[in-house]
Amino acid sequence: MTQTITVIRGDGIGPEIMEATLHVLEALQVGLAYEFADAGLAALEKTGELLPAATMDSIRRNRVALKSPLTTPVGGGFSSINVELRKRFDLYANVRPAKSFPNTRSRFPSGVDLITVRENTEGAYSAEGQELSADGDTATSITKTTRRGSERIVRYAFDLARRTGRKQVTVVHKANILKSTSGLFLKVAREVAAQYPDIACNELIVDNCCMQLVMRPEQFDIIVTTNLFGDIISDLCAGLVGGLGLAPGANIGTDAAIFEAVHGTAPDIAGQGKANPCALLLGAAQMLDHLGMPDKATRLRAAIVATLEAKDSLTPDLGGSGNTMAFARAIAGRL
Ligand code: NAD
Repeated sequence: MTQTITVIRGDGIGPEIMEATLHVLEALQVGLAYEFADAGLAALEKTGELLPAATMDSIRRNRVALKSPLTTPVGGGFSSINVELRKRFDLYANVRPAKSFPNTRSRFPSGVDLITVRENTEGAYSAEGQELSADGDTATSITKTTRRGSERIVRYAFDLARRTGRKQVTVVHKANILKSTSGLFLKVAREVAAQYPDIACNELIVDNCCMQLVMRPEQFDIIVTTNLFGDIISDLCAGLVGGLGLAPGANIGTDAAIFEAVHGTAPDIAGQGKANPCALLLGAAQMLDHLGMPDKATRLRAAIVATLEAKDSLTPDLGGSGNTMAFARAIAGRL
């Protein structure tokens, strides 16, 4: 039976990188059917809503979505449509690979191959209970960490290690200072790790982790951490390997999964054919892994690497003079 996925073309450079990505997926003969749905500004213009019920239904039905970046207008009812999607589908695992690629403007053109697994639903980032005192001088918020939230994300990281033949999981925390919240996360992580004797587990305090990442990123394999630390660390890792144009991300829950580029809508270059499609393409590769097509995912990544190696039609952010579709055709031609 043909698998159908929800496709959200998005805003800004979104439609351009999605067209490029679907072109490459066609050359890869993935055999997927697409149900197009709107969210963000595109949806607001058509339906008056940022996240229409039809889009939610489509994701719920298909369980897998490929999504371009979205604009969340200020005063639109949500602080972020992306955060809203994570909440509504309980997409608890944010999985962001960072891998060295040739001919990028990176400090580490080789040696980095790590995955950050970030808890996506609780902790300081969820911005619960934000309050400002009446005199405006004291701000507070609640950081909530649960056993359930910690256990499922750490288990996801260890299962990912097993599934992909990776050898080590690093638990990143600040339990020396944040004794209750980070302390619970670390305690639960140790309990889960004990159930995976085949995978090495080490622990690092988040500040030391950042220094180690910048100095010796090759020592990392899988990093698992809480929401806010994961937000920061995964951008740091994207920076290590050449920036946003090459950074994909997956948001995974029990009932749905959404695959995307990490970058935003890039309004400064939208409509000019300058956008690098690689981040969304690498998100599509994560999706193919998720859909049980690891061979096609591997071929896609190899074609991207070969195109970067040949410096064929690279977009301006990579120092080339190609455009989005020319780059996509160069990748498709190497499949
Ligand atoms: P951005 O990622 O859109 O852009 C930052 C810089 O990186 C810009 O100079 C841009 O031109 C460049 N860039 C980004 N993607 C690129 C690509 N594929 N190829 C080449 N260059 C690329 O970040 P921003 O400017 O802070 O945000 C713009 C908008 O995007 C905001 O409305 C924000 O809310 C939204 N946003 C959406 C998502 C998402 O939907 N996942 C994520 C982040 C930001």
